[in-house]
Amino acid sequence: MIEQKQCIKCLAIKAVAEFDKGRAVCKVCRNEQSRKYYAANREKIKEKDRKYYAANREKINERNRKYRSENREQISEYRRKYYAENREQSNEYQRKYNAENREQLSEQSRKYYAANREKISEHHRKYKAENREQINQQTLIRSLDPAKLAELKTKLEKL
Ligand SMILES: [Zn+2]
Repeated sequence: MIEQKQCIKCLAIKAVAEFDKGRAVCKVCRNEQSRKYYAANREKIKEKDRKYYAANREKINERNRKYRSENREQISEYRRKYYAENREQSNEYQRKYNAENREQLSEQSRKYYAANREKISEHHRKYKAENREQINQQTLIRSLDPAKLAELKTKLEKL
């Protein structure tokens, strides 16, 4: 026979498994309670977390660092899997985001460009110098329209 007890909150008689160990309130009521508590004390809880984090920053960072280094493979495997499974979704998300924030994004990149003009052109210059051949090919391919490309292909095949 399954051991039962009565929840002091909803008064339902439930199997002991429906209660957290040693609790007089069933799991359903407990969840409800903590949901309500959280809703009512959201700011307080956040503040507490913030304070806790500030006071234990070093410890927490160290723990995270340790966790990451001990589980590096697992984490990257997880990320790889997650990305593969959500590729469509995240591309879709990105596309939507870009469309909805086009103005803001172009304003952002305009500003970024203005602030980093020197750095960016230096980067471009360097990149071009280091990848000249590749870029020439890419530019060539891009500059060709499909008709011309087909034409070129036939020519090359005849050689
Ligand atoms: Zn209950």
